[in-house]
Amino acid sequence: MSFSSLGLSEQLVRATADQGYETPSPIQLQAIPAVLSGKDVMAAAQTGTGKTAGFTLPLLQRLAEKPRTGKGPRVLILAPTRELAAQVHDSVNLYSKYVPTKAAVVFGGVKINPQMMKLRKGLDVLVATPGRLMDLYQQNAVKFNEVEILVLDEADRMLDMGFIRDIKKILALLPAKRQNLLFSATFSGEIRALAQGLLNNPVQIDVAVRNTTAETVKQSVYAVDQSQKTALLSKLVRDNSWEQVLVFTRTKHGANRLTQKLEKDGITAAAIHGNKSQGARTRALANFKAGEVRVLVATDIAARGLDIKQLPQVVNFELPNVPEDYVHRIGRTGRAGESGHALSLVSADELKMLVGIEKLIKKQLPRKEMEGFEPKNHVAMKPKAKADPSKARNRSGGNGGGNGRPGGKPRSFGDKPGGRSGGRSQSGNGQRGRSGQRQTQGA
Ligand code: AMP
Repeated sequence: MSFSSLGLSEQLVRATADQGYETPSPIQLQAIPAVLSGKDVMAAAQTGTGKTAGFTLPLLQRLAEKPRTGKGPRVLILAPTRELAAQVHDSVNLYSKYVPTKAAVVFGGVKINPQMMKLRKGLDVLVATPGRLMDLYQQNAVKFNEVEILVLDEADRMLDMGFIRDIKKILALLPAKRQNLLFSATFSGEIRALAQGLLNNPVQIDVAVRNTTAETVKQSVYAVDQSQKTALLSKLVRDNSWEQVLVFTRTKHGANRLTQKLEKDGITAAAIHGNKSQGARTRALANFKAGEVRVLVATDIAARGLDIKQLPQVVNFELPNVPEDYVHRIGRTGRAGESGHALSLVSADELKMLVGIEKLIKKQLPRKEMEGFEPKNHVAMKPKAKADPSKARNRSGGNGGGNGRPGGKPRSFGDKPGGRSGGRSQSGNGQRGRSGQRQTQGA
């Protein structure tokens, strides 16, 4: 299957070729024809599946079919965070390289006036976070009477972040006759209720392996006392020569503290979280992408939607309170067919969270200890003895498959519908077994 056989125009196909995409991903195979046909779509898809191109390419084609008559926008894309909105906007610009489309992005935390000016000039596609969009509407800077297509991207996260009221207000202002596309990693009761009120006989697409973690991500746990975590992280970064690590902390304060400690230790680091100005966040991300910053420390909300290509390594400095966030976090690695490695530093007080995560993803994560960093309370970190031995055998080496090596070409999701197949390897021994590392479990 090629992009052109899905009904996309030569100009759009050329834009995907420029990106090095060889074949459409499973969600693209399903979403592109559905959107082109004008139907509503409800898709369960996580970041990393290629969903952005899945809705952007066909909607650009629909726009190109007839010219804009007013100031627009004709397509409204709502996203939960500034980072995601900026990335979707970047994607729209990339894919619309050869079609005459004007796009803009608006989000909070920056001056509103330049955004008003942009809107006044007229545009086809507007990417927005809900809060700022409502502000702009209330100040008469944007009208919705020309909206033909609405996209809700990462709808679950928008609800998590309390945007439901803004979304409902915006929905009430849109023309009744329009196409609606809803993308969400998870489908809770609340999302289903939203979908029911919004979507008309939608095409349903499900490529998310719900609550299981990407097969291309090798996962493991280091048992370590809280007080030793920073030192262990420094050692891991150095010993493994990690050049680009995304590290998650639970709090903004914790992110700042860790960043400072790493810097003191001679490892370049930057923090990205909600208290940072938009400028500081963009700068931190750019420096990280450029390889000037080795460790990017992020909180869950700030990291949501970050598209960092071929990220080989994610570390959970602390486990998230909400098990689902673990799945989101490790989704930052092993993307688009690349293999990745997610490692969690877990202290005894986090054991309950670990158990919750393992229940959600339905697998037990292999525990390791690092010589010189063994926790005082070894026993507590060991998995419960009642674990099914047959499962334990499956787990050994079977939950990763990646070799931790970033950057393999070509950029392909593989050709197996319903799953990503690229980057899988048989060995599964990745970075295990390096000197000084040993496992406390037979897995
Ligand atoms: P998304 O799920 O939209 O965040 O996309 C994840 C990543 O996959 C992005 O870096 C895209 O550039 C990349 N991507 C999207 N479509 C394809 C494709 N058909 N082949 C290879 N990579 C792709």
